[in-house]
Amino acid sequence: MALGIRKLLVLSLVVAVFLLANIWLVVRWLDDVGAVGFDRHVRTEYLTGTAITILVALLILLVGPGARRLSLSRRCPVCDHSVSGGSKYCGECGSKV
Ligand SMILES: [Zn+2]
Repeated sequence: MALGIRKLLVLSLVVAVFLLANIWLVVRWLDDVGAVGFDRHVRTEYLTGTAITILVALLILLVGPGARRLSLSRRCPVCDHSVSGGSKYCGECGSKV
């Protein structure tokens, strides 16, 4: 971990502790600015149960490309045969996995 990243981490922790210590001032400031009313409006108008359900389902269905590599058994992209171990070629059709 580089020194710059450590400094940034310590600085962000100090800011986080400062904000947590003065949470009521932050909340009052947000209420004075009008962010709380706007947030309440957005929550009641746009974040219905159906919208939250759809968002959660999309987050579950969207799987990153690295997730496939974590599984132990791979599939051949040509014949869909199971490829075992660290072999680079399919045993059924011979294509490169
Ligand atoms: Zn194959």
